[in-house]
Amino acid sequence: MDNFLASTLKQQAPLITSGTIGDINWYWLDHGVMVIEPNQGEINQLEHVLLSAGVHGNETAPIELLDQLVGDLLNSRLKLNVKLMIMLGNPEAMGNGERYNDIDMNRLFSQHHKNYPPCAETLRAEQLEALTAQFFESSKGRKLHFDLHTAIRESHHVRFALLPYKDSGQYSQKVCDWLSCSGVEAIVLNQEPSATFSYYSSEHCRADSCTLELGKAKPFGQNDLSQFEGINNGLRQLVSQGLPPSSTTAKLKVYQVSQQLTKLSESFTMNFSDDVKNFTAFEQDEILAVDRDTTYRVQQPTEWVLFPNPKVRPGLRAGLMLVEIEQDVIFH
Ligand SMILES: [Zn+2]
Repeated sequence: MDNFLASTLKQQAPLITSGTIGDINWYWLDHGVMVIEPNQGEINQLEHVLLSAGVHGNETAPIELLDQLVGDLLNSRLKLNVKLMIMLGNPEAMGNGERYNDIDMNRLFSQHHKNYPPCAETLRAEQLEALTAQFFESSKGRKLHFDLHTAIRESHHVRFALLPYKDSGQYSQKVCDWLSCSGVEAIVLNQEPSATFSYYSSEHCRADSCTLELGKAKPFGQNDLSQFEGINNGLRQLVSQGLPPSSTTAKLKVYQVSQQLTKLSESFTMNFSDDVKNFTAFEQDEILAVDRDTTYRVQQPTEWVLFPNPKVRPGLRAGLMLVEIEQDVIFH
């Protein structure tokens, strides 16, 4: 199995679809999807780790990191001590250098693909759901899923994690410690179910999951991967040793959503510039947006903006406002 990324971009199936190299077995399951596992010991007891990238096809840097990781495992340059699944989410959009072709795939999970006429992306989301469920099914160990992305806009926190909504409101401190050690500066808790890949694996497979935003990416081959060194080291440590023992999350900031700016009509206007950075702070009572007779104001003493985008279709989210919370309340 040579050159995982190149064959994924060409959507070319390898001639041989499984094999043994040294201490590992590998299985090619479909374009951009591989399972790699140690060939000795109780595999089901190991941590089951799903690493995905390219759900948005133009978010190249994390795709390149995973390709290198696979290459190093298959050439015995990196030890493996977890059961690992790698997924490159949207090969067609990756090949075109686009975020998506017809529908944003990260709005299609947890059966949301059924809400649209079938297209390559609805079929792919359905397929990734099935492969993910199958992968985690046999696990008797910890289940982890990190869905790697890069953001479109600049951000005051360059690297941050979006944790999917959970009924319990409780998250793994060990995972957050690992995020912090890997250079992640902040986590944002989602307050409601969503159609993202990480919500699917969390809700359906009971994995500790998150969507990771890792900075900005450029076209394939033009990324300065040194900017991704923290997460790259973290991922390599994770696959070769599993999650490290808890250390400290002291540096990690924790936010939750205080309000959503919903675009109600084409009259929606935002009261700040289009290129404002993620996590820009606003003070109480400041006007954030106006949409006919609806005025969105800052409700809490300070709120921070995330993913502002006034260009979405009416009815959709044009931005989120966050408040900072104490980290102790979310850990079990
Ligand atoms: Zn993305």
